[in-house]
Amino acid sequence: MYSNLLREPKIVVAGPCAAESKEQLFAVAKTMSEIGIGDFTIDLNNHSVSEGNTSSSPAEKFWGFHFFRVGVWKARTNPADFQGAGDEALTWLKEIKKQFGFKICVEVASAEQVQLCIEHDIDAVWIGARTTVNPFVVQEIADAVQDSLLSVFVKNPINPDINLWLGAIKRFQNAGIKNIMAIHRGFSVENENVYRNAPCWEIPVTLHIKLPSIPILCDISHIAGSVELQQMVAQTAMNYGFEGLMMEVHHNPQEALSDSQQQLTPSQAIHLLETLVFPTSKNEAENALFFQRNLIKSIDIQLSKLLSKRMEMVDEIAAIKAKHEIPLLQPTQWKKVVEIYKENSLKDDHYQQFLDDFLLLLHKTSLKRQE
Ligand code: PEP
Ligand code: MN
Repeated sequence: MYSNLLREPKIVVAGPCAAESKEQLFAVAKTMSEIGIGDFTIDLNNHSVSEGNTSSSPAEKFWGFHFFRVGVWKARTNPADFQGAGDEALTWLKEIKKQFGFKICVEVASAEQVQLCIEHDIDAVWIGARTTVNPFVVQEIADAVQDSLLSVFVKNPINPDINLWLGAIKRFQNAGIKNIMAIHRGFSVENENVYRNAPCWEIPVTLHIKLPSIPILCDISHIAGSVELQQMVAQTAMNYGFEGLMMEVHHNPQEALSDSQQQLTPSQAIHLLETLVFPTSKNEAENALFFQRNLIKSIDIQLSKLLSKRMEMVDEIAAIKAKHEIPLLQPTQWKKVVEIYKENSLKDDHYQQFLDDFLLLLHKTSLKRQE
């Protein structure tokens, strides 16, 4: 289905997780602009880029850079975490807009914040996952943006409930907002070991079927939660035909006051965009292979992370056994492990042989670590 969803050009919303200080915002904006991230403006209605930058690189032309994102007021789960620089940052953003020509996009969670954004010439607001879950608050924001020129980007709610997402988007359509986009940022699900917020691709795909005129972006930062996974998440989003990406970019991620583990440097962001692959529909076999390989890559990443996590847990078990002087070898426990793998496996002889070899190696390795 991916090829018929592909639309050009793609949209990029990039910038730091949070506004930390005036110096930090200018430093990020400066590196982003120095590295050649352009300053296209985009008309979301007809999906065409007006006013390009002067770059002749096809990758830069194709992607452009459409919004500078930044969390001014951060919705943090832990009240002890950094909450963003607050109202003051809006005046810094106004200067950034003037100096670098970026369009500015800020998260809002109340009518009061919307009002401040309008007063400070902000171009777009996004509704965070923790806000989309609450129809009262979404309606309050929809009333506040009514009759403004703001673009509104609606992230999916924290939980995988498409109706909450659709309902929030409808409230902004009813408020007469012309430029609305949806953002898939993954869902908070139990027992998730790989992603920060698990993607659930069928939900944005269903949203696209129900609301075909709403562009959908993928927030690769909050899905991945780490730098390494973002390329794969972005590629998968492109395979599904998403219209663009949201990503957190910081000039010095290690020093970031929030989400430091997932923010990309500007050059990492450019590299990610330039290495994405877009299959043409010319060669069907190649396209099918490309799509399948990406799915396998996603499974390999998950397998590798899960196996590493399993080994770490083995280390914890070893510590408990050592403390209580319990013998390392527990044949009945291992039998239970083997049963789990057998129950969930393919039944053909080839696979069973592989599984026996694999389990032998797993057991040996885990005993060795415990030693
Ligand atoms: C963010 O984009 O900074 C953010 C807090 O995202 P989310 O609402 O998806 O958690
Ligand atoms: Mn963040």
